[in-house]
Amino acid sequence: MTPIPDDLIRHLQQVRHLVIFTGAGVSAESGIPTFRDAQTGLWAKYRPEQLASPEGFHADPQTVWDWYAWRREKCLAAEPNAAHLAIAELERRLPRVTLITQNVDGLHQRAGSSAPLELHGNIHHLKCFACRRDGGDWPDDVRTIPRCRCGGRMRPAVVWFGESLPETVLGAAAEASQHTDLFLSIGTSSLVYPAAELPFLAKRHGAFVVEINPQPTPLSARADLCLQGAAGEVMAALLATNT
Ligand SMILES: [Zn+2]
Repeated sequence: MTPIPDDLIRHLQQVRHLVIFTGAGVSAESGIPTFRDAQTGLWAKYRPEQLASPEGFHADPQTVWDWYAWRREKCLAAEPNAAHLAIAELERRLPRVTLITQNVDGLHQRAGSSAPLELHGNIHHLKCFACRRDGGDWPDDVRTIPRCRCGGRMRPAVVWFGESLPETVLGAAAEASQHTDLFLSIGTSSLVYPAAELPFLAKRHGAFVVEINPQPTPLSARADLCLQGAAGEVMAALLATNT
C-alpha cells in the first residue's frame, strides 16, 4: 500500500473545506481513454477540431454526433474506480468538500458524488447548438440528432476547442480554491488552462496543496506534497487513514 505522509493525514483530519480536483488520469483508471487516445480506427483520420469544435459541428454535425455517441457508450460501459469511490466517501465523512472535475463522463456522480463542478461539461447532457437551451438527456435513438424547439440541432453539453469554460462553474471552482485549506489535485497533467490554474490559486491563498499523479507535472515543484501513483491506489490508502 502507498504510504501516506503524516502531514497529509493530519491536514485531512483537521480540514474545514476540502477541495478535490480531478482530471483525465482518474477516468483512465476506469478504462476511459483520453480524447487523443480514443481517436483510433475510423476516427483516426479526423483532426481533433473536426470532432470537437463549433466549426466542426457546423461543417458535419452527424460525424461529431456519432463520435460523441460512441464516446458516451464507452462512458456508460465503464465503472467508477477506487478513486471515484474514495472521493464520494470523503464527501460523506467531511464537513465540507467541493469536487471540481475536468472529466465529462459522469463517473463521479455514479460513484455517489452529489454535485461536482464540471468544468468541461457532461457528455450525458445535451444543449441546443443554436440557442444553447438545455436539451436534457440523450434520446433512445442515439443515431438521430434531436432538434430544439427553436429548430436548432442538439449537441453534447461539453466544452469544445475554441469555447470558454462555463463561467458560473469556473467562478465557483475559483471561489472554492481561494477558500480551501486542503487541495488535492488528482490525475491531471496541470497543462490545460484555465483549469490548471486552480491548484496554484489555492496555493497562493494558503492551502496545503497535494498532487496525486503517476508522473511529475508543472504543479509538482509548487505543491506541498507529491504522491506519485495511481489515483485509485493512493486515494484508497488516504481514505483508510481517515477513520
Ligand atoms: Zn434552440
